[in-house]
Amino acid sequence: MSAFRRFLHWGPITALSIIKCITLTTLYMNSMWWPPNQSFGGFAHQAFFLLLSTLATFNYVMATLTGPGLLPKNWQPKVPEDTQFLQYCKECEGYKAPRSHHCRKCGRCVKKMDHHCPWINHCVGWANHAYFTYFLLFSILGSLQGTVVLCCAFYRGIYRFYYLTHGLEHLASVHFNITSIIMCILGMGLAIGVVIGLSMLLFIQLKTIVKNQTGIEIWIVEKALYRRYINIAKDDFVYPYDLGWRLNLRQVFNDDCQKQGDGIEWPVLEGCDQYTLTREQLAQKQEKRARTRTFKCIAPVSGRWLPIFSQGWRVCTAAPCTDEPRIRLLPEDVIKVTRFRKHWLFGERVLSDLELADNKQKRRKGHIRGWFPRRCAVELTEMTATGTGQDSDAAGEAAPPSTRINGRDVKNGKTLNGHGKQQRRERESGKKYM
Ligand SMILES: [Zn+2]
Ligand SMILES: [Zn+2]
Repeated sequence: MSAFRRFLHWGPITALSIIKCITLTTLYMNSMWWPPNQSFGGFAHQAFFLLLSTLATFNYVMATLTGPGLLPKNWQPKVPEDTQFLQYCKECEGYKAPRSHHCRKCGRCVKKMDHHCPWINHCVGWANHAYFTYFLLFSILGSLQGTVVLCCAFYRGIYRFYYLTHGLEHLASVHFNITSIIMCILGMGLAIGVVIGLSMLLFIQLKTIVKNQTGIEIWIVEKALYRRYINIAKDDFVYPYDLGWRLNLRQVFNDDCQKQGDGIEWPVLEGCDQYTLTREQLAQKQEKRARTRTFKCIAPVSGRWLPIFSQGWRVCTAAPCTDEPRIRLLPEDVIKVTRFRKHWLFGERVLSDLELADNKQKRRKGHIRGWFPRRCAVELTEMTATGTGQDSDAAGEAAPPSTRINGRDVKNGKTLNGHGKQQRRERESGKKYM
């Protein structure tokens, strides 16, 4: 995507409009509340605000233009044997370097991916982490100053008549008309919203930088610890990139605000190597495959975020709090489910032969991987010759499947055997980590 087209998206258009709206309203109100042309204090105050606003805009534009640093397509490690420690990305037709992840929205693997930010219409990662964090910081400071100016100007403006009638003419400097009062109220709301919203985001970013652990890596580490907690993995796990807060900070913020290294090789703790984390990721992936269960859709799913009319309030109130997609399903669709909640399931729709044959042309619109309401699907449990309940990646190929509704196997009235129950217990105990 060209640099210009990056900005032609609701995220950057909204973000830049908000920045400009707060800046212009604050400048206009400040010119009446503390005129910069009448005192040095007023001038310095206005200049400081303009500096913050410029720095916020500059870092915003740089974060968008620089981008997170994309891993080249068909990327391979220097040593061919190292591919055994890495995941393969089908979309980019290459291996994923350590700390790289594929972003569905950018359609590419991103170096040290933290998250995809719709406001910059790009990912936040290795190359633009500093710009993005500075953008948050200067926006918060600028909006904080804007909030003070707008609130004070508003107060003076609405008491203008009182000041004029009580001999306090020097305070009656702010006068409103219908447009300026609406602008002032709107500006105040936006500035307060920016301070609250971005402060939370800045706090999360600083935590990420100080621990040198991106949003995605926090998730991987949590799963790694859980695997050891329930004794699936016996070895010790050390997160390799946390070099102490000083060195961690220096990796992102340095003298010239430039990215360090190549975003592929990272300094690691002693006793770890470049593939410590990727080996853990591979083990988790393998386990996830073993955990996958096959479901069949029995009622249409709209793919809406809050399907209140089709699914009712109980399903809506239990909707997963994530920005992961929701999928649209039709009866008879088969879904490979990897995450389980009481009312929602996360999985990937298996593409039909027709969709696969026509090379994407007949493929149904919308995501193929995402959340959907649990009540719209039933589990297909493949029964082997010995009648063992089996977790399978290939359900539907062999014996006729039994159907499980609300966690109970209903084929011939039989329930799962001991092995299946044990697995279910493990799944339930680990539910919150999935
Ligand atoms: Zn990729
Ligand atoms: Zn992205």
